[in-house]
Amino acid sequence: MARKGSKKLRRIKKTHSWVVILLFLIVQAMAAGLIFGFGSVFLSYFVESRVESELQSVSYLARLYEISLEDEKQEDVYKLIDESGRDYIIRDESGNVIHDKGNITLGDTGKIVLSNVSLSVAEQYDDPNDPVDSIIMGDERYEIGFNDNAKVYEDTEYDYVYVNDANEIDIRFKKLYNDITKSPISNVEIDENMSKEDIDRLVTGKIAETKESTKGIIALEADSTVHLPYWVSLSVNDGKEEFIGKAYINFAITDLGFFAIFIILLVLLAFLIFVIMIVFIISNFINQRKTIKLLFTDIVTNGHNWMWFLYRGEHFLRRWGSARSTYAVVNIVFVKYRNYCVCHSIEQGEKMLKKVYDHIGKHLEKKEMIAHVSNSNFALLLKYEDPDKLKMRLQSIILELEKIDADHVFSFQAGVDLIGVWKNENGRVIRRKDIDLEVEYNNACTARATLADKDESGVAFFDDKLIEDQKWIDKVTERQRYAIEHEEFMVYYQPKYDPSTNKLRGAEALIRWQNEEMGFVPPGRFIPIFEKSGFITEIDHYMLEHVARDQKAWLDKGFECVPVSVNVSRAHFIESDLAEQIRDIVDKAGTPHKYIEIELTESAFFDDKKALIATITKLKEYGFAVSMDDFGSGYSSLNSLKDMPLDVLKLDAEFFRGDSQGDRGEIVVSEAIKLAKSLNMRTVAEGVEVKEQVDFLASQGCDMIQGYYFAKPMPKEDYEQRMKGIE
Ligand code: C2E
Ligand code: CA
Ligand code: CA
Repeated sequence: MARKGSKKLRRIKKTHSWVVILLFLIVQAMAAGLIFGFGSVFLSYFVESRVESELQSVSYLARLYEISLEDEKQEDVYKLIDESGRDYIIRDESGNVIHDKGNITLGDTGKIVLSNVSLSVAEQYDDPNDPVDSIIMGDERYEIGFNDNAKVYEDTEYDYVYVNDANEIDIRFKKLYNDITKSPISNVEIDENMSKEDIDRLVTGKIAETKESTKGIIALEADSTVHLPYWVSLSVNDGKEEFIGKAYINFAITDLGFFAIFIILLVLLAFLIFVIMIVFIISNFINQRKTIKLLFTDIVTNGHNWMWFLYRGEHFLRRWGSARSTYAVVNIVFVKYRNYCVCHSIEQGEKMLKKVYDHIGKHLEKKEMIAHVSNSNFALLLKYEDPDKLKMRLQSIILELEKIDADHVFSFQAGVDLIGVWKNENGRVIRRKDIDLEVEYNNACTARATLADKDESGVAFFDDKLIEDQKWIDKVTERQRYAIEHEEFMVYYQPKYDPSTNKLRGAEALIRWQNEEMGFVPPGRFIPIFEKSGFITEIDHYMLEHVARDQKAWLDKGFECVPVSVNVSRAHFIESDLAEQIRDIVDKAGTPHKYIEIELTESAFFDDKKALIATITKLKEYGFAVSMDDFGSGYSSLNSLKDMPLDVLKLDAEFFRGDSQGDRGEIVVSEAIKLAKSLNMRTVAEGVEVKEQVDFLASQGCDMIQGYYFAKPMPKEDYEQRMKGIE
C-alpha cells in the first residue's frame, strides 16, 4: 500500500508541475495573442479609416480632371484643383508630366488593399442618392466612380507611409519614433526648400506658427497633429493618364497616446497575469514542498516516516546502486514498548521513541537511512560488507539503546534482510531497481518475529528457511479447521510403567496428524503454531474429548484402565473457567474423573500464579490429578512447587540425555525425586531409553517411567493390547 502511495506521490508531483507549466504557457500565449491581435486590428482600422477619406478626396479631384478632359476646360479645372491646396501631378503612360503643382516627392509604388474598412469607397460612390457621388458643373451632372486601380506611392522625403507585403498601407512606426525622439524641439531645423504652405500643411500648432519644424512632419505639442505624407495614384482617361495626389495620414499625438495607453494597458494586463502565474507557481511549489514534508514527517519522532523510507530508499538504491555497496534492511523493535506506555504514559513512551530514533540516527553513516514505521518499529537501510560485522554493529547499537534511559533497562530486537544478495525466489539475479523495499522490510520483520517469543534483545537474519517456515505456517493454518472437523487428528497413547514392577500405571495422550497431502505430521511441527495462534485451546478440547470417550469405552468393555494424562497448554490456562470446561467435557463422556490427569507445562508456572493455583485447586476438587510437565527443562520452578497443590512431577527428558548423564545428573534426579516425595508428589521420568536409567530410577523410588525403553506413543488399538497385559 505504502509503495503504491509513494508511486502515486511521484506521479502527482510530476503531473502537478506539468499542469502548472502548461497552464502558464497557454495563458502567456493567450495574452501575447491578445495584445498582438488587438494592436494590429486597432492599428489597421486606424490607418485605413484615415486613408479612406484621403482616397475619396483625391478620387474627387481625379474625376474633376477627367470631366474637364471631355469639355476641354483643363485650365479652369487646374485652378479649381489648385484651390484644394493639394499637391498633385498628372502624367501620361510614358511618365511625361502633363501638369503638376507643389513639391513632387514621389517614391515607390504599390497597389493597396483596404482590408478592415467595411464600407468600401467604391460602394459609397455607387449610391446614386449620396450627394458626394456626383459633381454638378454648369448644367451637367457628372457621376463620380471610384477608380479601384488606386495605387500608393511613398513620399521620398518623408517615407513613413508605405505599402507592405500584404498590400496594406502601413506606417514605419519605428522610424517615426526614432525621428521624433532624435529631434528635440530646440534642435529643430527648417528645411530651406519648404514653403510656408508646406510647413503649415505638415505641421500645425505652435511650431508651425513659429515656422519651426522637426523634419516638417511632426508637431510636438501634445494636442498637435502629425501628418504623414504619401501619394495616391488613380488612372484616368481610360488608363491613358495617371492622376497622383498627395495625401496624408493625419492623427493627433493624443490618438497615439490613446493607442499607446491601450497597448500599455494590455501589456500591463499580460504582465499582471504573468506575475499572478509566477506567484501561483512559486506558492504551489512551496505548498508542494510543505505537503511532501508533512507527508514524509513522522509526528512522533519528528523524523522520517515509512513513506519517506520507501520513497527515498528506492532512490538510494538506484542512485548508489553500484556494485561496490551492499545494503541491508533492518527492522528494529523496542520490545515491551506498550508496557512502558502503560506504566508511564503514551507521551513518555513517544518521548522515548524519539530518543531511540535520534540515537540510532547518530550511528548512521552517509547514504544510510532511518525511519519510524509505527509504534515500536523502526526501519533502517544500512550499508554492510560482511554480515558478521553488520551483526556486531547492530548489537553495539542495541547495547547502547538498552541503557538509553537511566532508570530502565530496555530490550531491542533487530531483524535483518540482506539485499546485497541480488536473487529472487527462483534464484534469478534481480536488478537493483527492481528491488522492492517493502518486501525486504517485510523479510526483516519476519526475521525479527523469530525473536518475538523472548523479551530479550537480539539480532536475527532473514534466510530462505524463514520463507519455508512461513509457508509451512500458512499451510497448517489453512488446514487446521478442516482437520479438526474431519478427525484428521489422532490420539496416540504412550504408556507409563512402574520401573520396579514393570506394570502399566498410566499413559499420556499425544496428538498425531494424519493428512492426505502432508502425510503423518509429528506434533512438534504444528503444536507451536497452534500455541501461537491460539488454536491450541480447540486441540486441547479435542484431545480431552477423545481420551474421555476412549476411557469410557474401555471401561464399558471391562478393561482395567489406568489414568491417562492430557496436555493442556499454557495459553489455555489463562481462562478462568478452565476447570469447569474440563469437568464438563469429561462428564459429557461419562468418564470417572480419576481416569483423567491434566498435564501442565512448567513454563505455565510463570504466569498469573493466583489464577493457576485456583484452577489447579478446582481441578483437584473435581477429582482430576494434575501434573507438572517438563520439570527441569526451563528455569527452576522449585519455588512454585511449594505453593502448587500438584499430584505428579514429570522429570524432563533432558535429564536422561547426553551430557546430563553421569554422577552429577544422577544427583540432581535423585534430589528431585526426594523433593517430590517430601511434597507428597508422585514422579514420572520422561524420555527414558536405556535399562541403566530404568534401574537407577527404580532404585531412587521413581514411581513411573514414560519412555521408549518401555513403549513409544502408539495408536489406541495397540494401547488396548497393552492394557490387556495388566494383571
Ligand atoms: P511432551 O508433553 O513432553 O510429550 C512427550 C514427548 O516426548 C512426546 O513427543 C513423546 O513422543 C516423546 N518421548 C517420550 N519418550 C521418549 C523417549 O524415550 N525418547 C524420545 N526421543 N522421545 C520420547 P511428541 O509426541 O512428539 O510430542 C511433543 C510435544 O508436543 C509434547 O511434549 C507436547 O508438548 C506437545 N503435544 C503433544 N500432544 C499434545 C496435545 O495433545 N496437546 C498439547 N497441548 N500438546 C501436545
Ligand atoms: Ca506432556
Ligand atoms: Ca514432557
